[in-house]
Amino acid sequence: MTEWNETKCGFIAILGAPNVGKSTLVNRLVGAKVSIVSPKVQTTRTRVLGICIENAAQLIFIDTPGVFAPKRRLDRAMVASAWGGVADADSVLLMIDATRGLDADCTIILKKLQEQKKTCMLAINKIDLVDKQKLLALAERLNETGLFSDIYMISAETGDGVSDLLARLVDNAGPGPWMYPEDQISDMPSRLLAAEITREKLYLQLHQELPYATTVETEGWEERDDGSVTISQIIFVEKPGQKAIVLGKGGSKIKTIGESSRRELTDLFGRPVHVKLFVKVREKWGDDPERFRDWGLDFNA
Ligand code: GDP
Ligand code: MG
Repeated sequence: MTEWNETKCGFIAILGAPNVGKSTLVNRLVGAKVSIVSPKVQTTRTRVLGICIENAAQLIFIDTPGVFAPKRRLDRAMVASAWGGVADADSVLLMIDATRGLDADCTIILKKLQEQKKTCMLAINKIDLVDKQKLLALAERLNETGLFSDIYMISAETGDGVSDLLARLVDNAGPGPWMYPEDQISDMPSRLLAAEITREKLYLQLHQELPYATTVETEGWEERDDGSVTISQIIFVEKPGQKAIVLGKGGSKIKTIGESSRRELTDLFGRPVHVKLFVKVREKWGDDPERFRDWGLDFNA
């Protein structure tokens, strides 16, 4: 750190409709998985910090839950958390999905952004999926809003365009001390991260509305003498019928989920991990203040 005359630090909130690729971008910038990703909307439930160091600058990304029209209590809390992230940040990076363009979700966000007095950059993501002509037309329309200092076209998935964006973020960062230790890439405790990884596997295995009826909690964390760790987790569902689906025929589904969670956690923690999964019915976990506390969400949002 001493090789730099002056360190820089920047807090950047990443905002956007569900599924535009916010978490994918944060993971790519950080160079490790700090935020779970799935093809389903509203995978990210809470504010996740991803931290990276680029030359003299420490960049702290706030990956927010997608901003959308809230219905349930959990949805309201997630929206409040996303805008809270904006308030905390030095600058805002709005992400738009090039395949969806300016949809209803996006219009709501643009309107609210106009009220915030923040430097706002735009990243049009998933450019690997659309043709150039369509992309330029979209960029032109967004440029006309006058809201953005810069517009970048990227693919968070392939990495295309991401280094230009990163270079600009480093330029924008103000002088200041680094806020986190050099080797820290997230602020998420291991127990919560472990629960999130299992939740991602659940989201990938379950269909339609069922993922949203589930949540995962790490209940036990047992260090073994051989250097391995046994992580016990409970998957909460809302109804007995859902429990049967999560278990699968002869327990086959939960076995698949546990196995793929175990593999990724072993990789993430760099040590052998055993995962024990249990399924429990808790009818109203979505209205339980304790769940909200775990995620750092405001129950009364
Ligand atoms: P979030 O809800 O905004 O955090 O979105 P995610 O990061 O969870 O991504 C949603 C889905 O879009 C996932 O299936 C990602 O793999 C996919 N995705 C993200 N970025 C890109 C991209 O640049 N190109 C393509 N083709 N898919 C992407
Ligand atoms: Mg996300």
